[in-house]
Amino acid sequence: MTIDYESQRNWEPQTQAVRGATVRSQFDETSEALFLNSGYVYKTAEEAEAAFNQDIDRFVYSRFGNPTVAMFEKRLALLEGAEECRAMGSGMAAVFAALASHLSAGDRLVASRALFGSCQYICEELLPRYGITTELVDGKNIEEWKTALSKPAQAVFIESPSNPGLEIIDVQAVCDLAHNAGATVFVDNVFATPVLQRPMDFGADVIIYSATKHIDGQGRCLGGAVLGTKSFIEDTVTPFIRHTGPALSPFNAWVLLKGLETLELRVDRHCDSAKTIATHLSTKNGITRLLYPELDSHPQHELAMQQMKRGGTVVAFELDGGKERTFDFLNKLEIIDISNNLGDAKSLICHPATTTHQRLSDEDKARVGLTPGFVRLSVGLEAVDDLVRDLDQALG
Ligand SMILES: *Cc1c(COP(=O)(O)O)cnc(C)c1O
Repeated sequence: MTIDYESQRNWEPQTQAVRGATVRSQFDETSEALFLNSGYVYKTAEEAEAAFNQDIDRFVYSRFGNPTVAMFEKRLALLEGAEECRAMGSGMAAVFAALASHLSAGDRLVASRALFGSCQYICEELLPRYGITTELVDGKNIEEWKTALSKPAQAVFIESPSNPGLEIIDVQAVCDLAHNAGATVFVDNVFATPVLQRPMDFGADVIIYSATKHIDGQGRCLGGAVLGTKSFIEDTVTPFIRHTGPALSPFNAWVLLKGLETLELRVDRHCDSAKTIATHLSTKNGITRLLYPELDSHPQHELAMQQMKRGGTVVAFELDGGKERTFDFLNKLEIIDISNNLGDAKSLICHPATTTHQRLSDEDKARVGLTPGFVRLSVGLEAVDDLVRDLDQALG
């Protein structure tokens, strides 16, 4: 069965999320089928030869491709407005595959400093071991970007909003500078989701997701994806993943496909509740810093609202009284769980300085605002009144 993807590109995102790229088997099932197989059979030896020669377009091995995984990849590409997508076993597999397949020894990578801990490890520790030079800049400061990109570079990697400090990067301005320097721009769009922000509209070349977060959104499985032009995905990313093996399991792809169907509904509700909670927390004593991009008080509120439809699903704040008071607050929460995941139906809170970002030096923590009282709250889908009450009783 062939699908007319070009006509599906004209569908509204809500229709793409529910029906995009669905391929039905001979059984005409309603929901997407789960093809839980590693290999495929050939009618003849000649067919196998032609398949490996890529003379015919068919599945040959689930490390390279699988019908359920392909439905997820094509559906996400439709939603993102990207030409192509490759899914991977986790968000970090996607980040590494995207950068490692593009860069070579001698190349230069410029990245924003406010990165997820493992992204920072790849940029600052792993890639330099392979002869790639990395320079980190303050992503909020356009002058630092100008200086760093006054020399040729091959890649720019950014996260906006950043995890966990919710720093916003001017994607358009950075893309213009990056392209003048010869760099491909990679955006980790996990915090914004495809519902709230489409960095390609501002010039980004490659979009990366941890599908573990909002795309699954229910704490069930890991997944990741890289989206870009047909030539980038087919000629650069695909050979890399074909031979190095970060494949997404078909079962996880099936979970994630179903996640896409309700992504917008969930993200909208997450945003409603996050805004209510941020507004409520802004009235409380004992909170020394509060970050939510949709509130005027966010230092980059205007830029955030130019790039994103809404403020997002995460509220970050700092309690006075340091680590002890903050741990006491976390331990008193009765509904909100302490967990390092985010984008989940369940509200989850974490203390980045001692968990996700523990490996940063004290100096680097201070530079991106990860003080001992700083927490990241991923607002879930529970009744917001219950969440507000829980926060209030734990704040005391
Ligand atoms: C979680 C996360 C990742 C890593 O994704 P995994 O699926 O956990 O491997 C990468 N970037 C950001 C911004 C994240 O929040």
